[in-house]
Amino acid sequence: MSQTKTVVAINGDGIGREIVTAARRVVDAAVTKDNIKIEWIEKKAGGEAIDAYGEPLPADTIKACETADAVLLGAVGGPQWDDVAPSIRPEKAILGLRKALGLFCNLRPVRIFKALQDYSPLKPELVQNVDFVIVRELTGGIYFGEREEAEGEGPNELAWDKETYHRYEVERIMDVAIETAAKRRGKITSVDKANVLASSRLWRKIAQEKAAANLDIDMDYLYVDNTAMQLVVNPGQFDVIVTTNLFGDILSDEGAVVSGSLGLLPSASIGTGTALYEPIHGSAPDIAGRGIANPLGTILSAAMMCRYSLNAPKAADAIEAAVEKALEGGYRTGDIYKDGMQRVDTNGMTAAVLQYI
Ligand code: NAD
Repeated sequence: MSQTKTVVAINGDGIGREIVTAARRVVDAAVTKDNIKIEWIEKKAGGEAIDAYGEPLPADTIKACETADAVLLGAVGGPQWDDVAPSIRPEKAILGLRKALGLFCNLRPVRIFKALQDYSPLKPELVQNVDFVIVRELTGGIYFGEREEAEGEGPNELAWDKETYHRYEVERIMDVAIETAAKRRGKITSVDKANVLASSRLWRKIAQEKAAANLDIDMDYLYVDNTAMQLVVNPGQFDVIVTTNLFGDILSDEGAVVSGSLGLLPSASIGTGTALYEPIHGSAPDIAGRGIANPLGTILSAAMMCRYSLNAPKAADAIEAAVEKALEGGYRTGDIYKDGMQRVDTNGMTAAVLQYI
């Protein structure tokens, strides 16, 4: 008898419904390999929740997420909600979910599929072996520290933000990085600015302690400025990059650009509660409702969900292999289309993936 897992599906806004629907079809087909069935629970968040309930993250959505095995999210936001009160902006849904589910870690794999090597802005020989994961701390550091605006006057007008890290916050993110590296090539690059920042010196001290206690892991330490350079000079050297909230925000966008195809990159946010899976791109309001969005970032996020939250490793492997085959078969949505390829819409790309599952 198959086991049932519950997944909250939050379409969100813009292309959200199109890409989440596509990913659900692929997951339903793939998880039979692990003898699993999915019970999908649709909930609202973001702009569509503002329209329906006057708030971006209803309590009912949070409750469903807390008790589910995983959450799959499309994207939230769009120009319709640009002028709503700051306290109910669509992005508040993401921050609220991170808080409610204790999601302290964001995992962003950056892998360049062979078929898409020439989409990278870097020279093909530089991106041949690019396959790394950025492990970003998500709930600490300067984004959540104290801040003050407009103190003082005239030339003395002052604003400040405080970067703080507690030992427990660094230890738990290092543990995720070590676990991630152990399942990959066993190499971690811990990124900080320890030559300047006190919080970075604590970060590095704890990274060194963790390295000493995990001798099977090969840990090295880079300053963030050097990392930004190395990501374009030699991105193939990285396996797992672990870093703070602020540095991770910036480096993960740089990583995305290295791949050259925004519509393909998945992410997972994990922590103490239910994990959340979503593509890294936004709600693409400029193409919403036309059925032409690239569903692969969401489909690959769903593969991560199968691996990390649903205990469905065969499905995860099958989905990733099927995406690779669909790309090798020349199927391309408009965002990655080039002459000579087979142009498909969202449904066409989903069908192309499904045929290889
Ligand atoms: P975006 O990622 O939505 O779009 C940038 C460009 O990439 C657009 O031209 C879009 O058409 C294209 N694109 C993105 N994903 C695509 C896909 N799957 N297939 C084909 N083309 C794709 O970024 P943006 O325009 O800056 O933001 C639009 C909205 O999304 C804003 O309201 C923003 O706040 C929100 N946003 C949400 C999230 C999230 O929910 N996590 C993340 C980023 C942006």
